[in-house]
Amino acid sequence: MAKQISAIRGMNDIYGDDAVAFDYLIGTAEKTLKQYGYNSIRLPIVEKTELFARSIGEVTDIVEKEMYTFEDRNGDSLTLRPEGTAGCVRAIVQNGLAHNQIQKLYYTGPMFRYERPQRGRYRQFHQFGVEAFGLATPDIDAELIILTARLWELLGLDNLELQINSLGSQEARIAYREKLVVYLSEHKSKLDEDSLRRLESNPLRILDTKNPEMKDVVEGAPKLIDHLDEESKQHFDVVKSHLDDIGIPYVINPNLVRGLDYYNRTVFEWVTTELGAQGTVCAGGRYDGLVEQIGGKSVPAVGFAMGVERLVALLMDKQKVPEYAQTDVYIVTVGNNVSRPGMVISEMVRDAFPELNVQMNCGGGSFKSQFKKADKSGAKYAIVMGEQEVESKLVAIKPLRVEGEQLTVEWDALTGHLETIFKS
Ligand code: ATP
Ligand code: MG
Repeated sequence: MAKQISAIRGMNDIYGDDAVAFDYLIGTAEKTLKQYGYNSIRLPIVEKTELFARSIGEVTDIVEKEMYTFEDRNGDSLTLRPEGTAGCVRAIVQNGLAHNQIQKLYYTGPMFRYERPQRGRYRQFHQFGVEAFGLATPDIDAELIILTARLWELLGLDNLELQINSLGSQEARIAYREKLVVYLSEHKSKLDEDSLRRLESNPLRILDTKNPEMKDVVEGAPKLIDHLDEESKQHFDVVKSHLDDIGIPYVINPNLVRGLDYYNRTVFEWVTTELGAQGTVCAGGRYDGLVEQIGGKSVPAVGFAMGVERLVALLMDKQKVPEYAQTDVYIVTVGNNVSRPGMVISEMVRDAFPELNVQMNCGGGSFKSQFKKADKSGAKYAIVMGEQEVESKLVAIKPLRVEGEQLTVEWDALTGHLETIFKS
């Protein structure tokens, strides 16, 4: 036997019940987003490396150590997208979709980060991303959060905690940064290597550390939320009032700074305690400076991304997933030249009942083996055809998982009979 070839570490095949849950989640999210007037955008998986360096920030975990970057045959530096916002912004600028108009967009697909694989953290994972361009007012920040709450309710996910914070304006952040550097410099002995390096280049990133040994020093740090500019404070107050009106509870987490540099004002995360350390299932915020940074005219923007694998894990744990595709009708065809009329009958049933799952037995076999397969498929009824039935243009309808007698009917009458059966 030839040697097997396995997938790349941290890059998973998704199949069986997980795949059902995956599709169910994406489908439900799409429906919800459409309800709020969002449209789909489909984006490339590979972009120029420069796009991510410029948007996410040079001194971030993602750009410093998590990107899949390579040279193509032309010697250009390309990167597998680690997140979706940068590419989405690039697309709306390049296609002239941002200027003087509102764009409400969603997308989904794989993202790539070179991280240590563990439950809820993979090297290829999927996000469902949502972005709203052209709106500076806090109503849209709140609406984005409200629509995620609606989605959790539809999915039957309770126990998600909403954490919010405001990062204020760029100017307020610069003033705060100085205070933070003074504080952190006084506690240099407690900083890890990454943080010491970032003390000069990007001290706010230190607040986003995942190192538990730095918990105390981070908790003692001055809080950005106490240094907000007046306008940002008001903006944040309105976001909170909207959430109060709709009855969405939240906690203010002053250390929520997010792992990407492009955010300002509102940031939020939905967090669960049920997935261990990988508890954030949805995260986002406002990024008013990014469109200009990517070469467009200044356009305010706000968005978020859901971690599909983490939400799927929650759905599976809670068994809030529809059943694996169940067969409704199984078509048994035994004998010479029975499979041809069998195929015709199958198509006829599918034409008449688009909502039913109709499986025709493929691969031959005796009555016994075909009934075994019919039974295993979970079908409620079998439609049975042998040589005799074909000769007389008849089929038998045999109840498998429901009460009732076997019926023999003419081909022409089959869909009428099925109609009565499935209606009762
Ligand atoms: P974390 O703090 O868990 O590393 P992050 O801040 O890096 O997350 P974002 O860049 O905000 O994550 O991405 C949005 C969401 O995508 C996360 O909240 C999470 O649900 C999901 N996500 C991020 N990285 C991974 C990964 N490596 N594997 C699976 N899901 C991920
Ligand atoms: Mg991360």
